[in-house]
Amino acid sequence: MTRKRIALVAHDARKADLIAWIGANIRLLDGHLYWATGTTGQKVRSAHPQLEVTPLKSGPLGGDQQIGAMIAEGRIDLLVFFVDPMTAQPHDVDVKALTRLATLYNIPMACNEATADMVVSSPLFAGGYTPRAADFNGYETRQV
Ligand code: PGA
Repeated sequence: MTRKRIALVAHDARKADLIAWIGANIRLLDGHLYWATGTTGQKVRSAHPQLEVTPLKSGPLGGDQQIGAMIAEGRIDLLVFFVDPMTAQPHDVDVKALTRLATLYNIPMACNEATADMVVSSPLFAGGYTPRAADFNGYETRQV
């Protein structure tokens, strides 16, 4: 099995859903490597101690930005981010930045449970899928 490097984030109203989703998919998720925003990471660790989870800072204290930096450095293969679309978040700009970087670097990003189900049940998840690397050559060599 290729060990995927997976980032986990859940807004407060979606943390219980993320824990339950992990429980329902534990066979598929076990054995991979996890990083998570602080509170999400603590909850995942206590509910599923068999998972190797490295907690980062809490989201509103910079955890989303830490995951964004890991994505920019090529250190994350999948982002599972259970978003609460009904509550204003104090760190909305950080959430936007994270989703932008996941899009830019062509990282699979599941923002709800149905997408997360599709991702982990895909043969591409079980196999050694490498997404096409984004090509920034044109941008990096632009005349300014
Ligand atoms: P938290 O952060 O896991 O520390 O609660 C999640 C978020 O970004 O809202």
